[in-house]
Amino acid sequence: MTGPYTKIFEPLDLGFAEIKNRILMGSMHTGLEEAKGSFSKLASYYGERADGGVGLIVTGGVAPSRRGWVSPFSSRLTTKSHAERHQIVTQRVHETDAKICLQILHAGRYGYHPLNVAPSSIKSPITPFKPKALTKRGIAKTIQSFANCAKLAQMAGYDGVEIMGSEGYLINQFIAAKTNKRTDDWGGSYQNRIQFPKAIVESVRKEVGSDFIIIYRLSMLDLVKGGSSWEEVVELGKQIESIGANIINTGIGWHEARIPTIATCVPRGAFTWVTQAMKNELSIPLITSNRINTPELAEQVLLEGRADMVSMARPFLADPEFVKKAQEGRADEINTCIACNQACLDHIFEKKIASCLVNPRACRETELQPNPASVVKKIAVVGAGPAGLAAATIAQERGHKVTLFEADKKIGGQFNIAMQIPGKEEFKETIRYFAKRLELTGVEVFLNRRVEVEDLIEFDEIILATGITPKTPKIPGVDHPKVLNYLQVLRGEKQVGNKVAIIGAGGIGFDVAEYLSHEGESTALHPDAWLKEWGVDKTLKARGGVVEAESKLSPRQIYLLQRKSGKLGGDLAKTTGWIKRMQLKTRQVSMLSDVRYHRVDDAGLHIEINGEYQILDVDNVVICAGQMPNRSIVNGLPSEKIHFVGGAKLASELDAKRAILEGTELALAI
Ligand code: FAD
Ligand code: NAP
Ligand code: SF4
Repeated sequence: MTGPYTKIFEPLDLGFAEIKNRILMGSMHTGLEEAKGSFSKLASYYGERADGGVGLIVTGGVAPSRRGWVSPFSSRLTTKSHAERHQIVTQRVHETDAKICLQILHAGRYGYHPLNVAPSSIKSPITPFKPKALTKRGIAKTIQSFANCAKLAQMAGYDGVEIMGSEGYLINQFIAAKTNKRTDDWGGSYQNRIQFPKAIVESVRKEVGSDFIIIYRLSMLDLVKGGSSWEEVVELGKQIESIGANIINTGIGWHEARIPTIATCVPRGAFTWVTQAMKNELSIPLITSNRINTPELAEQVLLEGRADMVSMARPFLADPEFVKKAQEGRADEINTCIACNQACLDHIFEKKIASCLVNPRACRETELQPNPASVVKKIAVVGAGPAGLAAATIAQERGHKVTLFEADKKIGGQFNIAMQIPGKEEFKETIRYFAKRLELTGVEVFLNRRVEVEDLIEFDEIILATGITPKTPKIPGVDHPKVLNYLQVLRGEKQVGNKVAIIGAGGIGFDVAEYLSHEGESTALHPDAWLKEWGVDKTLKARGGVVEAESKLSPRQIYLLQRKSGKLGGDLAKTTGWIKRMQLKTRQVSMLSDVRYHRVDDAGLHIEINGEYQILDVDNVVICAGQMPNRSIVNGLPSEKIHFVGGAKLASELDAKRAILEGTELALAI
């Protein structure tokens, strides 16, 4: 059965091997690679995805040498004993008919350690360690290390390797003139600079023979000034094809690029046109990637001939059964990746094991098992925000009898508000997913039902997932009619004037500034407009694919304020904070720190910055100063039956990742 999709389920014949469908689980480092008991955890993690129907898996990047490490002691494959440890992973995946390739990644100057090397000794803007320039002998050794690593991957039972030639890692550093200033045979002309990737592919092929998959990840769009021209990328692609790669995968953007490539504000499939352009040039199968998160889109991309295969990485953290559900016509049951990066990439930057905001089981497959409940209980869940939805569906799935009460007319809690923010449209998918889960698990749901204590007495357990109430700071004049809270603004309950001050520059302050500074439909829904907004050259004429970004002014004059010193948004997440700051800066939102609030009156907001008084002559002041737990129905409930999750438990530093995790963990334990 293939459900409504046909193209994604066509096998891909490579001559010596057949991939059963056109869906690749793209490479992702999860941190499991370096964890205690790493290989058995990886076996469960990849095994679940293979059971879920994916055709081909590419592992997270593995270094071919110490010098190629991404960070100290990250995974490397350099000896036979390393290869033996990988076997448990390949054997588990091969219990199914899926295939698995090992990605060989040499970080070059991106290596976050003092042993890092590069073609030239030029520090990257995103790492503190200045690399040593490789000697000629060092280059030869590095090429050999790729070949050695591929041979060991073959011994470990992998079906092939992916050679990481994009994202600004070592191979890319050789190719681009901006990072390769060598004057020997490995630098200078473009032909000299691409000797390095060619020599790697050549020596890998020689080492592994013909019946072993070689995928080359080609940086099709560097998205950095001084990157390759399109003609150069095509030239390299042709040469890599002729040397014997079997498949070319699409790489978009170096890590240091200041253009988002996978964040939630990037339109779905925003870069598939690049792979399509390359399809006119090469004959071997091409994989496209970046922000593809539904089977509909994957099917469309293939139907339109934009690629031969579709890579999705994070969507497999969100739902290991993505392919199976699509194949069985159950796409509406897929837990869709909302591209938030909060539990995957952000965790990696924080040196934590990756997981998924919408699926906390990701990378914790062996720990978070929904076993049947030993004693069936009657459970009330109050509040259908992310925390309550996770708790209700999992508890019911385990066999409990769950009743879910929601005061609003719809489920979703604050996600209904978050999805109003331009660039956060994806958040609606999580509400859709949970709506389906409620239906499938059979949770009894009461909407428009603000419960009181007496409604809850009959239950064995009461889960309070009632969320938060916004904080109102004690500023004189805070009850002035021009003062609004963010809920009134984002729910469209109050009109906002042309001059606005926002008090509080946390996640919500930034989102409100984004909302108020945006005009027209969100560019996240309009790929061409989005590419212009970020200065991506769709004509492929500009080097690196970057041109001047189209300037977009805010329709309002906006001040975003915080009391603490330092740059605004310093606490926002590493992978997305810079995007939010850049967007507001482009629209000339004034971001002020060190602010003391004196009062609000008809004249506006009176503030003081470093001893200087000023009045911001604004029409409205929007309060985004954090939240408090909403525990309005606690009094009178038997304390031994009560459990708090999400905002109701702790409002400070609350996000949906914590809310869903807490709901999940409680439902597994109760
Ligand atoms: P809520 O989502 O607040 O849900 C509580 C529910 O309980 C509500 O539906 C409420 O109606 C119901 N309720 C309350 N009292 C009763 C009662 N007595 N009876 C019945 N029902 C009741 N988080 C992220 O992780 N990433 C983001 O990018 C992000 N962006 C955001 C953007 C905005 C604009 C906003 C407002 C929030 C954002 N968040 C984000 C925060 C995230 O939405 C919250 O952390 C999350 O929704 C908290 O979940 P919760 O279930 O604890 O509470
Ligand atoms: P927050 O992150 O705690 O920020 C509150 C802001 O208000 C801070 O900037 C704080 O900074 C200011 N503030 C606090 N008390 C104040 C007072 N008494 N007077 C004036 N200013 C005060 O909370 P939030 O922005 O409401 O966000 C809530 C949660 O939602 C966050 O924890 C976040 O994780 C989540 N969220 C996440 C995202 C995301 O993109 N990941 C987006 C939105 C929301 P100063 O004290 O320096 O002024
Ligand atoms: Fe996708 Fe967010 Fe989950 Fe990462 S954490 S896989 S971006 S939904």
